Amino acid sequence: MSCIAERVRVLGNAERMLGFGARRGTVCTITGLSLKEIQQLVPRKEAPAGRWPSSIDWYHTANLAKRVEASLFAVHYWRNRRNEFEIVESLIDAYGRYLSCVGSQPSISFDRAVNLVCHLEGNVWGVRNRSFDIAVCPQCKSQQLIQVGYERLIGGCIFCKFVQRYVADARLQAHFPTRSMPEDAGQTLWTTDGTQGVETRANVESPQK
Ligand SMILES: [Zn+2]
Repeated sequence: MSCIAERVRVLGNAERMLGFGARRGTVCTITGLSLKEIQQLVPRKEAPAGRWPSSIDWYHTANLAKRVEASLFAVHYWRNRRNEFEIVESLIDAYGRYLSCVGSQPSISFDRAVNLVCHLEGNVWGVRNRSFDIAVCPQCKSQQLIQVGYERLIGGCIFCKFVQRYVADARLQAHFPTRSMPEDAGQTLWTTDGTQGVETRANVESPQK
């Protein structure tokens, strides 16, 4: 790729990330662009300062709705990586797909999505070790985030819980008012043994009939 084409690609990635509400520091770290170059792309007030959190503590204290959304993003991302797309491309595509699932008020900001990527990959953007992996629920077959080193889902499957609670939980109903989220959760899913082409389909039901 020529220098000009590479420059255009990097600027395009930066614009997409800023469009997702990324912090300026996050875009600098991922693209290698300077803060001054970022500020030329977007007015200062439209892009928050700083960068993504390095700790994953927020996930461990998150409620069910946030965990479901985190897994929606992570599964999209992991599928891209299994299809051998590079990290930044996988991140941007997965976040766009995640937004198309959850609408205009996502629980997982772009910066937190980057945080998830760091802890799924390890050894990237200043995060040394992996904290997360993707596993399949043996019951509903949904893929979701798990802690590295644990084969089974700690605390149970979030999608099984989601389906069980949804009917009686007004907050979940308000949070996921459309059909798109759980249907997308059941889209093409991949096994975690690295075997591409082996797909399962989750039996997560749509909460709205
Ligand atoms: Zn399940």
